[in-house]
Amino acid sequence: MSDPKTYLNYIGGEWVAARSGKTFENRNPADTRDVVGLFPDSGADDINDAVAAASAAYNAWRLTPAPKRGEIIFRASQILQQRKEEYAQDMTREMGKVLAETRGDVQEAIDMGFYMAGEGRRLHGVTTPSELPNKFQMSVRQPLGVCGLIAPWNFPMAIPSWKIFPALICGNTVVIKPAEDTPLSTYNLVQALIDAGLPKGVVNIVSGYGPSAGEPLVIHPDVKVVSFTGSTEVGKHVSKLCAEQFKHLSLEMGGKNPMIVMDDADLDLVLAGAVWGAFGTSGQRCTATSRVIAHRKIAAELTERMQAETRQIRVGNGLQEGMQMGPSINEGQLGVVQKYVGIGRDEGAQLVLGGERLSEGDLAHGFFHQPTIFGEVKRTMRIAQEEIFGPVVSIIPVDSLEEAIDVANDVPYGLSSAIYTRNVNNAFMAMRDLYTGIVYVNAPTIGAEIHLPFGGTKGTGNGKREGGTQVLDTYTEWKSLYVDYSGGLQRAQIDNAE
Ligand code: NAD
Repeated sequence: MSDPKTYLNYIGGEWVAARSGKTFENRNPADTRDVVGLFPDSGADDINDAVAAASAAYNAWRLTPAPKRGEIIFRASQILQQRKEEYAQDMTREMGKVLAETRGDVQEAIDMGFYMAGEGRRLHGVTTPSELPNKFQMSVRQPLGVCGLIAPWNFPMAIPSWKIFPALICGNTVVIKPAEDTPLSTYNLVQALIDAGLPKGVVNIVSGYGPSAGEPLVIHPDVKVVSFTGSTEVGKHVSKLCAEQFKHLSLEMGGKNPMIVMDDADLDLVLAGAVWGAFGTSGQRCTATSRVIAHRKIAAELTERMQAETRQIRVGNGLQEGMQMGPSINEGQLGVVQKYVGIGRDEGAQLVLGGERLSEGDLAHGFFHQPTIFGEVKRTMRIAQEEIFGPVVSIIPVDSLEEAIDVANDVPYGLSSAIYTRNVNNAFMAMRDLYTGIVYVNAPTIGAEIHLPFGGTKGTGNGKREGGTQVLDTYTEWKSLYVDYSGGLQRAQIDNAE
């Protein structure tokens, strides 16, 4: 194999090495003999440089008309369209998920770009009548300054696009630190913006590890907004750091997403949805279906059929067409999956399928695990409560819709949920009572579209949303403007006749 390419940080429009000169390896999780590239192992000095560049670029960008900002984002999306296949291949190589899914990941970034480009001609404020005569009033969105963006590895282009494009359209500048396992896809996204003509310093990318590169970004006093997607544990830490400086903060964190299956559901439909929801992206989606809460009348049949269907999943290197499930992202994550399989066994859950690492032939060079199903799981078991982030699903039998909803809500997370039923009353009760940011009816827990708000309740988030126009609230703050054209002093709330 040829020497791996060495990548550089992009700061103030220049490609530069980490000041320390250090790099880290990005390896293919499906075949660790394959080094995708060497990336800067950056520290606080590099972050300081990037924040300084973003601060210097802010004023000119803020004053660039939003429709013009939108034109650049629009061009970036067109470039992504042209490079979709190349960037999907890069992503599968560094992240492991199969090509069909990485194409979808790039597509999501394309969609987000076109959506936010259009927002350049909206960014609506509000006008409302004054309580006083000859007075006009309105509220407008103001950008905040430099945004520090921290991303996870599971959607390495889509999630950065959910952050970068809205931040930019609102007039902010950006420093992004990609996940250490998947920096290349974020570099590719930034490259599209550079090629679309983004002015120097408006977007800066600095790669590195969480504590050494992410944390200096979070605490930098010139970073006004932090947007973090990742684990609940790190998100809590980031939240405390931001609180010290009252920073604007968006948190998107873990999930333990339930799919309720009622006894009147179309089981063929359920089967397709449950297998896709549980094992798509090897279960490494924040919205992955990790609990199937099945009415006891159909639980045994569903378990049996899920076992048969899941057995057919082709696991392997996602670069090979026809593969349906790739590896875990790294050795640590594979270890977490194995640990939870052990916990499930010890807790007395019934191991219906899988449970082992896959290491035949070339699979031995990657972090592959069998798709795994536990049956007869009790709601309080750790495998039913804690995020595993791997190809493991728990089937929990229940006796009624009320119990199903109670079990669904009885976890520390609240990102996504689903119900399969042919009864419209069941569907509406679930839509009302499931306490998650997203609810699907007769569709699995994964598959959000970018133009609806995305985010979760409880331990999943801090009330912010990505996607939709709601994301604009993260990257702007409101300014209220009053214009009195009466020519006299008019006092609000005071009786002016006195
Ligand atoms: P992680 O928390 O380990 O890392 C996320 C990012 O935070 C990485 O870029 C990492 O370098 C950085 N980081 C780590 N320590 C830091 C620190 N001290 N200061 C600043 N930054 C730091 O998460 P992960 O393993 O990359 O991603 C998996 C998690 O992300 C899962 O819990 C998953 O549910 C969650 N996730 C949530 C959503 C959502 O929208 N709710 C979407 C995708 C993933």
